[in-house]
Amino acid sequence: MHRGTLIVITGPSGVGKGTVIQRLLSRIAERPALSVSVTTRAPRPGETEGVHYHFVTDLEFDRMIADGSLLEWAEIVGHRSGTPRRPVEQLLAAGRDVILEIDVKGAEQVRERVPDALLIFLEPPSLDVLEERLRGRGTETEAMIEDRLRLAAREVGEASWFHAVVVNDDADRAADEVAAIIEASRTV
Ligand code: 5GP
Repeated sequence: MHRGTLIVITGPSGVGKGTVIQRLLSRIAERPALSVSVTTRAPRPGETEGVHYHFVTDLEFDRMIADGSLLEWAEIVGHRSGTPRRPVEQLLAAGRDVILEIDVKGAEQVRERVPDALLIFLEPPSLDVLEERLRGRGTETEAMIEDRLRLAAREVGEASWFHAVVVNDDADRAADEVAAIIEASRTV
């Protein structure tokens, strides 16, 4: 059977990965599956166990690392998040494409471990625009915003090793472009 493609969508915090991915799904004929990560952070209001994340303790996360059940993981501003390996492998084996929305460090691990993964970097139109978006979100303190902007500047510098870099100037336009990249990858 035809194996699905693992699609990694990464980019700095606040760039709009979640919105672009949601809009992308309706634009692709064979709807890709979204991987549900495990995280040690607390749920935010409106987040549901098993839908947005699997919320686990530090001890459970340690165990998952130790027994090799994470495809990749990273420490992200004070907590850890990672991709459970088994569900991803089962979906790919069943012919489904799977999208991972992860950070740049995680994307680097996927590049090493899954050589045929499609790696897409979502870039803000500029760091000034990213700063405006982070402030507009109103969920972070000033110190957190500054940390995220410093990290974003480093991450944007790594965009060159991705298969495609898409500027998120407009979520619908960016979703169109990412959908076209995914469709094109299927014909090769
Ligand atoms: P948030 O905590 O706001 O949901 O996500 C913070 C950052 O963690 C985002 O950049 C998101 O893409 C990243 N992230 C979420 N899940 C994972 C994961 O399983 N692995 C990695 N490496 N990063 C993740």
